[in-house]
Amino acid sequence: MTVRMRPVLDSLPAYVPGRNVPGSIKLASNETAYGPLPHVLDRITAAAADANRYPDTNSSDLLEALAAKFGIGAEHLVVGCGSVSLCQQLVQATAGDGDEVVFGWRSFEAYPIITAIGGARAVQVPLREQAYDLPAMAAAITDRTRLVFVCNPNNPTGTAVPGVQLTEFLDEVPADVLVVLDEAYREFVTDEKVIDGTTLLDRYPNLMVLRTFSKAYGLAGLRVGYGLAADPAVARAVRQTQIPFAVTHVAQAAAQASLEPQAEQQLADRVAEVVAERARLTAALRAAGYQVPESEANFVWLADGPAEQGCVDAVAFGAGCEARGVIVRVFAGSGVRITVGTAAENDRFLAAATELR
Ligand code: PMP
Repeated sequence: MTVRMRPVLDSLPAYVPGRNVPGSIKLASNETAYGPLPHVLDRITAAAADANRYPDTNSSDLLEALAAKFGIGAEHLVVGCGSVSLCQQLVQATAGDGDEVVFGWRSFEAYPIITAIGGARAVQVPLREQAYDLPAMAAAITDRTRLVFVCNPNNPTGTAVPGVQLTEFLDEVPADVLVVLDEAYREFVTDEKVIDGTTLLDRYPNLMVLRTFSKAYGLAGLRVGYGLAADPAVARAVRQTQIPFAVTHVAQAAAQASLEPQAEQQLADRVAEVVAERARLTAALRAAGYQVPESEANFVWLADGPAEQGCVDAVAFGAGCEARGVIVRVFAGSGVRITVGTAAENDRFLAAATELR
């Protein structure tokens, strides 16, 4: 006799992390190529000395720092063990058996997994031209819908929906359905038409915006993300579903240090470098004959499909890159996502991509 597990586990898609292959360049997980800023590293080291103590389970100082940054009351804010943890907590807080969670597809791989674990039903609305199709998402909402994820910019395609489309969508969503705007890559957005979701919180009480320290802030390994809820009741529900002490004090200290004025210019310089390299990668890939959607994030996307249309065979392309010492993220039958790395790393990838064309 074996231990009885929940049947849902049998049909659960696995979360496939980007692989680390010693000696190869990893452009597979949308991380930052550089280590923590020097003063952030100092704070990490100092905080590590208190490892015998539990952290502040409420992340109070970090909440205060975020409240100051966004000019919003701390009661609207939450901190989590990565923003993926906040996604999971939001599903747990809003949806149960038979309820529906709507999101675009393909999108962040964790959405279907956490929805299924929560016992809810995933309603996956196909992307249109590699971007979220918000009118179709609005049409997919039923009286069983409890939560809608809008990933903007979208992982893995990099596309972002303009503010006008987003507000039209938010105007249509019933007031009792929570909209979670996942802005993990917001810091890399340069298109002025793409609105900063935090500016919409005053208008839409059912809106929650998620951000993370994993990408632009370069703290992926420490696991800390945050959210801004228009309605403090939503923030309270997220706190209720949090595992006690989920965010370590090392992570809290690093995040707080990253919000200090001395970090601002250095982080802005890093983001500017990524944005410039994104433009260079996109232009070079297009010149080589690839079709590349306009990315507003720190990665670019090559869709799976016929070579004549500038697409790739995702599995073969990934293997070809790997044979040339570059690890990219393959979504079999769907496409390949390539993180923007340093100029030298991107050159290695471009050399591989040019050969594979
Ligand atoms: N949302 C999106 C769209 C992501 O791509 C990721 C990371 N891959 C996350 C959330 C989660 O990031 P983290 O948990 O590291 O904050």
